[in-house]
Amino acid sequence: MSIMPKSKTSNIKNKIIEKLKNISSESLEVGFSGTVREVGDEVVRITGLRDVTYSEMIEFPNEIFGVAVNLEENEVGAIVLGGYLKIKQGDKVKGTGRLLSIGVGEKLIGRVIDPLGKPLDDKGSIDTQKFYPIEKIAPGVIDRHPVNTPIQTGIKAIDSMIPIGRGQRELIIGDRGIGKTSLAIDTIINQKNENVICIYVAIGQKTSRIAQIIDTLKQHKAMDHTIIVAANASDPASLQFIAPYAGCAIGEYFMDKGQDALVIYDDLSKHAWAYRQIALVLRRPSGREAYPGDIFYLHSRLLERACRMDEKHKGGSLTALPIIETQAGDLSAYIPTNVISITDGQIYLEPDLFYSGIRPAINVGLSVSRVGGAAQIKAMKQVAGQLRLDLAQYRSLAAFAQFASDLDQSTKNQIERGRRMVELLKQTLFKPMSVEEQVVLINAGTSGMLDDVAVEKIGNFEKKYLEFMNDSQQKIMHEIKKEGKLSPDLLEKMKKSVEIFKKSFK
Ligand code: ATP
Ligand code: MG
Repeated sequence: MSIMPKSKTSNIKNKIIEKLKNISSESLEVGFSGTVREVGDEVVRITGLRDVTYSEMIEFPNEIFGVAVNLEENEVGAIVLGGYLKIKQGDKVKGTGRLLSIGVGEKLIGRVIDPLGKPLDDKGSIDTQKFYPIEKIAPGVIDRHPVNTPIQTGIKAIDSMIPIGRGQRELIIGDRGIGKTSLAIDTIINQKNENVICIYVAIGQKTSRIAQIIDTLKQHKAMDHTIIVAANASDPASLQFIAPYAGCAIGEYFMDKGQDALVIYDDLSKHAWAYRQIALVLRRPSGREAYPGDIFYLHSRLLERACRMDEKHKGGSLTALPIIETQAGDLSAYIPTNVISITDGQIYLEPDLFYSGIRPAINVGLSVSRVGGAAQIKAMKQVAGQLRLDLAQYRSLAAFAQFASDLDQSTKNQIERGRRMVELLKQTLFKPMSVEEQVVLINAGTSGMLDDVAVEKIGNFEKKYLEFMNDSQQKIMHEIKKEGKLSPDLLEKMKKSVEIFKKSFK
């Protein structure tokens, strides 16, 4: 063994000290910083960034931010929230240690914002005190309370046959342009006096269409309890992708305070497209219909956050109405089946009904609400209990009757009753109806008192009869509202009211 001369060892020592001096603290932060390896369409792949979590904000040079969505062994895939053209290969990147969050609070009410919380209207900046992460684990079963309070949509066909409860997730599904958004807008308008904060999340829609919706809501004084989160068709896919989470986080704020909130995702088909686009650019393996495999998990995580909290957690609720667009009525496509299985029921709109003038074009047979029945008020149950079945029977009888020449009297009666009920359930836009109005009207139909009114006169009957009830029979209306159920005495009074009214109706 040879011994190194002292001068040589000190030389090595000096060299090491020299090297250590030159190491900057920046490069010591292993894991918190990385380098851009590749920039794609709104997404980047980063190497060296190890200590990031899913949904963490990542900072690029020039104050550009992104979110980590793809964590791989050697790489992180991130979406860029605007300005991705300024990012270059080799740029240094930092993890921020913060999850992507959005400002929440009362100040958002009446405003139109983008998914990052920036105002899109001309009412100035929004100074929110609190921030909520846009991704959050849904409350567990123990903390939840069963759904038991209705959310009145004001739409006869829904409130009577497919009732929705506060904290429920009910899907609105159907082809293009047959009234999906209209159902949601009507529901928002009807929350005016119901103390429900509404959040309308527009994903991938035309800017002009959103302007129209805002206008409608303003006209009906519904912006006073509504927040609009918009990521338009022209916005980056990354913004469209995070929009529903942002809307959900805003709703959670109100739920956590013990209030009731309603969030509408219009629509999740476009959300799935945005995510597919991101995933394909990130070169993730694509699954059925080229969607990434976790799209189901993504939607279920989002919708699971809608719930009713128990009293210990202040008893607030978040109701979700996701919307899905089908192609040529195909319910068995990938995204529709996914979301159908995640939600507590669906309202299925049908083009044939829509174009034959039955609007809202709800197919009663294919629509269902799995938990809302518990939330329906007793009076409505009493008058509409049979309605679903009767209508379904009418549909099949009517189809059969087209080919039959002589029908027995009871079949004829059933068909006639069905025709009147279909007519009675039609509803024009932006005219949501109070629950007591719906009860007296549906009662008139199901109890057979409209059987001798001509089908084409039903619309007029409805209008005049409700005027009559609201003007001169207020006692009955008040009683239904107050009691929530119909005593034999009240039922008798309602019957009388129809008889009296019919005398003056031609
Ligand atoms: P898209 O697929 O483009 O989002 P959509 O399914 O959301 O469409 P809407 O935009 O709600 O459909 O409605 C389409 C058209 O149908 C609108 O012009 C609207 O005025 C009309 N419409 C919807 N519901 C009714 C109704 N109950 N009565 C009369 N017209 C209606
Ligand atoms: Mg729509």
